[in-house]
Amino acid sequence: MSEYFSNIKTSATTIATGMAITLKHFFNAVKRKGDAGIDDADYFRQVDGLCTLQYPREAVPTPPHGRYRLYCHIDDCIGCRQCERACPVECITIDTIKATNDDLAACGKTSGGQQKRMWVPVFDIDIAKCMTCGICVSVCPTECLYHTPVADFSEFDVKNMLYHFGNLSKIEAEAKRKKLAEQQVQAAKEKAAAGDAPAAKPAPKPKPAAPPQE
Ligand code: SF4
Ligand code: SF4
Repeated sequence: MSEYFSNIKTSATTIATGMAITLKHFFNAVKRKGDAGIDDADYFRQVDGLCTLQYPREAVPTPPHGRYRLYCHIDDCIGCRQCERACPVECITIDTIKATNDDLAACGKTSGGQQKRMWVPVFDIDIAKCMTCGICVSVCPTECLYHTPVADFSEFDVKNMLYHFGNLSKIEAEAKRKKLAEQQVQAAKEKAAAGDAPAAKPAPKPKPAAPPQE
């Protein structure tokens, strides 16, 4: 009989101990709600409280040199297309138009002082294909193409994963193309008028006459 009551007492003690531990973690978890402290290096070493993050309100900070979403600072792009050629999955598409001489000032300079000579009406990155290998970033001479710390950029519509960075609208690009073509035609005419046309090939030497037949 005494063993019977002893077992009941042990059960009640065990339940009370378990509930005390549960309540302790519950109240600690309530105290931990919010994103304060997520940037602390010791955040995940804390023993008490929530062990899951309240995403997206809380998020694990990305490392400072991690390779995440690409960004092109188009104002510094010189349209050399090295990134396009280097990309192993061909997810960068670039179109360029040579700036005419009277348009160089409008075309501007990079932040490093280099004169830009190309308009870049199309600079698209299909970020859905990008595998963040970083090759394009490493070949960019002006360092205008770089990874950002943005790690979560999912979309409901995959079309939204095509990022546009070009610096001209379609109408502006057509106007620049037309102007360039006109200037090229004019330059060709002026060259021809100045006698700079390539010299005509010398006439071929006459073949020796065939020996008289007997
Ligand atoms: S990071 Fe790699 S895959 Fe992505 S655009 Fe650059 S070269 Fe292409
Ligand atoms: S490598 Fe850099 S400068 Fe050249 S086209 Fe690409 S982003 Fe522009």
